[in-house]
Amino acid sequence: MARLVVISNRVTLPSDRSGSTGGLAVGLRDALRRHSGVWFGWSGKVADATSTSARIEKAGRVSYATIDLGRVDLAQYYNGYANSTLWPLLHYRLGLIEFTSETYDGYKRVNAAMARALVPLLKPDDLVWVHDYHLIPLGAELRGFGVANRIGFFLHTPFPAMEVLEALPRYEGLLSAMSAYDQVGFQTENDLRAFRDCILHLCNGDTSDGEALTAFGRTFRAGVFPIGIDAAEFAETAAAAVALPDASRLKASLVGRSLIIGVDRLDYSKGLPNRFAAFDQLLARRDDQRGRVTFMQIAPRSRSDVPQYRELRRRLEQVAGRINGRFADPDWTPLRYLNKGFPRRTLAAFYRIARVGLVTPLRDGMNLVAKEYVAAQDPADPGILVLSRFAGAARELDAALLVNPFDIDEIADALARALAMPIAERRERWAAMMEAVQSNSIGNWRDRFLDALQAQARVADLAPTL
Ligand code: UDP
Repeated sequence: MARLVVISNRVTLPSDRSGSTGGLAVGLRDALRRHSGVWFGWSGKVADATSTSARIEKAGRVSYATIDLGRVDLAQYYNGYANSTLWPLLHYRLGLIEFTSETYDGYKRVNAAMARALVPLLKPDDLVWVHDYHLIPLGAELRGFGVANRIGFFLHTPFPAMEVLEALPRYEGLLSAMSAYDQVGFQTENDLRAFRDCILHLCNGDTSDGEALTAFGRTFRAGVFPIGIDAAEFAETAAAAVALPDASRLKASLVGRSLIIGVDRLDYSKGLPNRFAAFDQLLARRDDQRGRVTFMQIAPRSRSDVPQYRELRRRLEQVAGRINGRFADPDWTPLRYLNKGFPRRTLAAFYRIARVGLVTPLRDGMNLVAKEYVAAQDPADPGILVLSRFAGAARELDAALLVNPFDIDEIADALARALAMPIAERRERWAAMMEAVQSNSIGNWRDRFLDALQAQARVADLAPTL
């Protein structure tokens, strides 16, 4: 079995005991163990200058290879191009895109530095798997160093429609960088379709041969690999965790009221202002819900160095204050808004206690919270998911109450419907959603991608073409 080398912006070191290790980290670590692999990326540490070689830490059969990033590099690559240019672009927020040559150059510089530090660690048969929008040019940089290995790329975010991508100055660079991989993976058919359109219409490429695409003088494959979770493990965790003190306290504090839960990084792609407005409208229009429902929004801070994120935080604090000021009673706070993160185990219990899971991103690659909410439910008395049509998860979870996250009336109506839904309908919808979540585990996702990558010929094995 070929060795696996995973590259992502941040490496989750085995010593990281923060408790916030996500399903992706767990899923990848399993694969790395089986393949005696290497996980390469940023250490999370900031230095005066970016490291020129990786620091290696071994834990069992997995090696963790990390580099520190220089202060300027970090500002330009991470806060700059990745999170102030690409992130809004990939989430269809053209008005928020900031483009400068400095941050673009910083992005390319860090990708080149990562490639330089990675090359000495690679063996000829390694399967190389690059993750996400921070590292789009990494494959092309590795090719520039003569790396002939099979290299795959998975985009965790949406891929935007051609007309949206075109707004990005120098977008051709991204498309040609993606063509340097052997296998490119997307979350949904929509994302793949948008990418194929770009290859065909913006690059004069050829997309007539199924999953094989040709552009920039290379032939490579692109497919759909929706990411999943380990549903059985999550269900077990949730069932056990409801007995924990945090969960018991939450339950007791509700004094019989229904709980609506939202769990999202504090990010403008998650649609939180509209969600708060919908809850406000539910209370304003329906007297019968006042005093009978509590909405708890968990929103850990994220990317606080980017001004738009700080602005969003200010705005949400105001709206939350207004809603509570308008509707609260001495013994009822309608909206509990928490700017902190919780360990997965605690979240699992909170999901199980909640009658409604409210997941309304304006755009989302997949949204794992939606799948976790489903997996955490009590099969005998399951809650109901209200889900944005524009989350990748909506493709699989079509038994949720699907809403347009820009339509506040529609979200408010879906909340009222979810809160009143009879148990038979809740059970039926939940069974369909649980089946979808179970049939596509994180392990399936990873194995399908790696099988597809493994099936590609190494660049060096290809017969030369005239
Ligand atoms: N999460 C967590 N603690 C928190 C909030 C979120 O562990 O306080 C986890 C959550 O359980 C999920 C992930 O973070 O696994 C968020 O993934 P998702 O795809 O929903 O959104 P992203 O943050 O990747 O945009």
